[in-house]
Amino acid sequence: MTQSTQQPSQQPSKQPSNQPERESAAIASVPTGLYAGGRWVSTERRLPVHDPSTGQVLTEVADASPREAAATLDAAAAAQPSWAATPPRERSEILARAHRIMVEESERLALIMTLEMGKPLAEARGEVAYAAEFFRWFAEEAVRIDGGYMTAPAGDSRFLVAREPVGPCLLITPWNFPLAMGTRKIGPALAAGCTSVIKPASHTPLSILALAEVLERAGVPDGVVNVVTTSRSNDVMTPLILDPRSRKLSFTGSTEVGKSLLELAAQTVMRTSMELGGNAPFLVFADADLDVAVEGAMAAKMRNIGQACTAANRILVQRPVAEEFTARLTRRMAELPLGRGVEDGVVVGPLINAGAVDKVTELVADAVGRGAEVRLGGERIEGPGHFYPATVLTGVPAEAELCSTEIFGPVAAISTFETEEEAVAIANDTPYGLVSYLFTTDLARGFRVSHALEAGMVGLNRGVVSNPAAPFGGVKESGVGREGGFHGIDEFLETKYISVGL
Ligand code: NAP
Repeated sequence: MTQSTQQPSQQPSKQPSNQPERESAAIASVPTGLYAGGRWVSTERRLPVHDPSTGQVLTEVADASPREAAATLDAAAAAQPSWAATPPRERSEILARAHRIMVEESERLALIMTLEMGKPLAEARGEVAYAAEFFRWFAEEAVRIDGGYMTAPAGDSRFLVAREPVGPCLLITPWNFPLAMGTRKIGPALAAGCTSVIKPASHTPLSILALAEVLERAGVPDGVVNVVTTSRSNDVMTPLILDPRSRKLSFTGSTEVGKSLLELAAQTVMRTSMELGGNAPFLVFADADLDVAVEGAMAAKMRNIGQACTAANRILVQRPVAEEFTARLTRRMAELPLGRGVEDGVVVGPLINAGAVDKVTELVADAVGRGAEVRLGGERIEGPGHFYPATVLTGVPAEAELCSTEIFGPVAAISTFETEEEAVAIANDTPYGLVSYLFTTDLARGFRVSHALEAGMVGLNRGVVSNPAAPFGGVKESGVGREGGFHGIDEFLETKYISVGL
């Protein structure tokens, strides 16, 4: 492959002059305290929140100490009995109201998200809709929690199986989907009758704080949902996890942190759900519809500027179509406007912080040093904000660091394969197993390979798998448990068996 490197449009465009007021109004609408027992409480220290597209401070929020954060679990524990006893229909209606308010306030919530996280507004609107949908789904599930009744095999007794709320939950979310990772946990917790303490990522606390205010308006009683924001996650969350009143830990984030939290949770044998990192293979077979495959790659690679656990990390293309696929994908990636996410039409927003740009730069340099060719982009963008351009690499060798690390940036790393067996072997050669993608028009191959892939989810001729009605989650080091779908509420319910003597 001898094509010359193309450069995508790299200069962030200027900000329209009417935007700052709209932006400051959105930020000013967010409460910034610790939310405990239905009260917004101030803390001794404050945590600055930055706009990754400018590096400027947007606002400051509560920076809780372990002592200050204790109030959130106290409130969740105090509210647990009455919330568990609240009729399912009432819980359902509160969730339905929260869904409606989120839809009505979509523009404000999307702008807040774009400002704190950087993703383009169109994607932020999509995330608000996706996030709200978890509330609608779990409003419907709240009234469908069932159990069982059966005759013991010996016929001398009856087995009654009931589902009960686990109890107060600790919910920890990452910065890359600041709202949806929250509603994916809060929705089923509320539906199941559990109270919670949620800790958003320190980079993006505003979306969850804005959500807490929405929940307040929707009628969530005091203490049922509590929010702790802090720069000292480990110091603040460790005592809460070890507190025997906490009965469930639901975490979304990196595998590294997930493993350490699992060790901690083991001390009280706490229920856990872990949505962890990924290293998704994206397989394109020679019999694929290349238009569909390129669209799929754009979605799986560029969603969230590549900063998704579901991002196509290793794009593997069967040799006969590799050049054609690469050329088409490169053309599409080269067209993507880069800039602040609040600007119309922008697709490539900033990465979350300077460290993320450094990491992507190092991964690309390592791949090139090992023989990969840069077909598009490949150079960090200097200036304010944390920008990295859409990049395409070809001939990426398996030893390149980015084949075993989440790239978390807009870099399509392409390599080739010869046979189906080889493709499956490469795809599965990772400790991760969140999602895999495959593109083929051969039905039998589609099913065969879907089953052979070691992943909790498979995108078969689709570059997006997330859906509130589907069970999201991984195998291997990508996690334990499922969120969304019929399975999502199970994570917040205990099974109680009552043996009934006759
Ligand atoms: P992270 O560094 O693991 O942080 C995730 C959350 O855990 C943040 O709220 C963080 O707070 C908190 N945290 C970190 N160390 C902690 C500790 N010792 N005790 C308690 N809390 C702690 O991950 P991230 O960088 O925010 O997110 C990116 C990662 O999330 C990627 O690996 C991505 O694949 C994964 N992810 C997975 C899914 C999924 O569904 N499987 C979805 C989205 C993202 P601070 O912000 O204060 O550090």
